[in-house]
Amino acid sequence: MNKQKVKPKASTQKKKVKWQEWTITTLAFTSVGATLIWIVMMAHNSAPSLDDHTHRNDFPEPNVLIASSKVCMSTDAFMNGNTQMVVPNLGGTYYACSHQCTTALQSNEAERYAIDPVSKKRISKATAFICLHPDKSGKVCYFESKENHLAFIKLYRP
Ligand SMILES: [Zn+2]
Repeated sequence: MNKQKVKPKASTQKKKVKWQEWTITTLAFTSVGATLIWIVMMAHNSAPSLDDHTHRNDFPEPNVLIASSKVCMSTDAFMNGNTQMVVPNLGGTYYACSHQCTTALQSNEAERYAIDPVSKKRISKATAFICLHPDKSGKVCYFESKENHLAFIKLYRP
């Protein structure tokens, strides 16, 4: 008699435990799933804003002249706060972001010169006045004079 009474108790307890396990598993999966969805949503929302805003808000306006030491003169890219190297064994002070760019500036004379977009003159990047390109590409423009820089900015404004 006693044994018969015990058996159903045990089975109902087992059922309860199984049901609890199932509930916990479901909850765990749901919360993990929700977290994953949240992470994906956050990544989707934050990724473009990082590129379009945080990144470019740091950049100076094109009407401001920037220090030549902030430009990699091989790729003509504005390097913002990144440390630049002075390229040795050249006539003027040229800056490069990497050894590859240093070598490129040393070996390729064309990389050391730029065309002033206003006067169309070929000028040395080492002595040029530099501003960020108004197209916000992160590239820079080189000018032979401050006047040409101002004229360029006026031309570029719609
Ligand atoms: Zn570089």
